[in-house]
Order: sequence, then C-alpha cells, then structure tokens
Amino acid sequence: RAKANGKGQVATFDFDMRRDAVDRQELEADMRDAISNDQFLLLFQPIIDLSTGQTNGFESLVRWGHPERGMIGPEVFIPIAEETGLIIELGRWVARNAARQIGEWNQGRSDGEHLFVNINLSKRELLDSRICESLVQYRREFALEPQDLRLEITETTIADLRSDLLPMLHKLRDQGFSISMDDFGTGLSSLGALHNYPIDCLKIDKSFILRLDTDRSLLAVVSAITSMTQSLGIPVVAEGIESKETVVALQSIGCRWGQGFFFAEPLPESHVEAYLLDENDHQQTNAA
Ligand code: C2E
Ligand code: MG
Ligand code: MG
Ligand code: MG
Repeated sequence: RAKANGKGQVATFDFDMRRDAVDRQELEADMRDAISNDQFLLLFQPIIDLSTGQTNGFESLVRWGHPERGMIGPEVFIPIAEETGLIIELGRWVARNAARQIGEWNQGRSDGEHLFVNINLSKRELLDSRICESLVQYRREFALEPQDLRLEITETTIADLRSDLLPMLHKLRDQGFSISMDDFGTGLSSLGALHNYPIDCLKIDKSFILRLDTDRSLLAVVSAITSMTQSLGIPVVAEGIESKETVVALQSIGCRWGQGFFFAEPLPESHVEAYLLDENDHQQTNAA
C-alpha cells in the first residue's frame, strides 16, 4: 500500500517480506546507475529564525526520481546506499550540488548576508577518510565562506561513534565546518552528556515538535533541552513545525530556529529564488 502524502514527503511501501527482498535487490541494482543517469535531485527546506521570521538557510534533502517507481524518499534508499557503499558517491554528489547552489544564491544577494546550507552525513560517509578534503574542495570550488556549508549528523551516529572516529568530527570542525546534532531525542544521549560532543548546534527531532499542540507536557521537555543547550552556547533548531501554535510555543521558550511544513516544504531549487523574493516582499510590506 502506498501512502498518500504531501509534496515534501514520499510514498512508503509495505510489501510482504519476499517481495521486499526482491524489491530491495532491484533498487540496489537500479541505484548503481542512478547518479550517472541524473536521477537524484536535491530539495531545500528553509530554516527560519523564529525571532525575526526570516530564512537564514536551508537543509538539503535528497530524492530519487526513479524512472518506473516515481519519487522515492531517502528513508527507503539511504539505508541501501549505506550498506552497499554507494552512499560515498551519492554523498559527494549531494555535497557538491548543495555547495554549488548556496554559492549561486549567495552571489545573487544584494544585502551581503549569506544563507547557509546543511547537508546530512551518515555514519558510513564519516568513515571515509577523504570526506573532509572533499568538502573543503567543494567549498573552494564554489568560493564559499566556511559558515555557508554546514553538516548534520544524527545523535545516534555521534553517540555511537567508535572513539577512533571522534577525530574526524574534530578535523571537520578544525576546517571550519559547523556540526549540528540531528534528530536529538531519538537516541540515548542524556542532556548532561551534550557538553562532551563536538557540536555547534542541536536539532530537536520532529517527533517531539509534531506532538507539541496535543501534548502540552512536551513543551516542558523541549524547554529543558533548549535552556540546557543554550547555556552551553549551542543554539537549537526545532524540526517538524506544522502549526502557528507550535511557532508561538517555541518562541515563548526562546528556541532560535525552526523548520517545518508550516513555513515551507522541502523546495526544488527552481522554487527557492521565488520563495526568497516572496519572503522579502512580505517583510517589506510588514515593515511599511
Ligand atoms: P532529517 O535530516 O531529520 O530531515 C528532516 C525530515 O523531516 C525530512 O524528511 C523532511 O522532509 C521532514 N520534515 C520537514 N518538516 C516537516 C514537517 O513539518 N512535518 C513532517 N512530518 N516532516 C517534516 P526526508 O526528506 O524524507 O528525509 C528523511 C531523512 O533522510 C533525513 O532526516 C535524513 O536523515 C535522511 N537524508 C535526507 N537527505 C539525505 C542526504 O543527502 N544524505 C544523507 N546521508 N541522508 C539524507
Ligand atoms: Mg537532517
Ligand atoms: Mg532530523
Ligand atoms: Mg530524520
């Protein structure tokens, strides 16, 4: 059964197990040529400063436009890409395209204020000894400032990192890459352990934010996370904001950034410029 979803989301399938295995093998085979056949695309979801309502940057989110199956989401193919090692090639494609895009958008800005783009890095990508050099190379190729290209790594990956991988996180930060801990709250880290991790920002998982309107006690949890991290000098992004009420609640506890369908779904690159212009118009109208 394929689930009907909004534009930013993608169908999920539940086939029986045998069908699943066949399916997976086919996807795996198809994926080998998908990059060279230009079947992947990047969407960009705005990240909003909750105190001003302005877009400060984007998270890049990959999709696979499969010639027969239609749009496939990352929850389906990233795990396969990880297991097969294809994630390395795909990850480079993602990073280079995100770098190229943000370079282009920043070049066209008159106010000189740079937007940033976040890319998601999975565990296998961090195990690649050349990851840091590749990212530095893309930054140079598109003349980016260090803060223009940022990295998201899940709490589970960061907390699971075998100790010999921690140097990679430090190396990336030494090169000026800012690291956000993604999906915070889904792993096992305690708030008290946060100061041990080499991170610059924390993203609260959408499972908490999506339930804020119906479960008010969660606001106390989110508020505790926000004040704890901010006392460590680590700003917070709330993911999965779908309502005005959630925005107001998050503003009341001083959450710095927000992201979610309430503001915008992940957008194709061709829509981003119009989105930014539109936002600018609104702000000028509101100021007038
Ligand atoms: P993530 O990094 O936590 O990304 C946030 C997910 O939440 C995205 O799902 C986004 O579309 C969705 N989302 C955003 N706002 C809302 C909202 O208001 N409501 C709801 N219900 N959902 C919202 P998406 O695009 O399906 O990506 C899923 C995961 O796949 C990402 O989770 C990330 O872990 C992974 N992923 C995506 N792109 C890449 C990539 O280029 N490389 C790697 N390694 N992983 C990626
Ligand atoms: Mg992310
Ligand atoms: Mg997340
Ligand atoms: Mg996630």
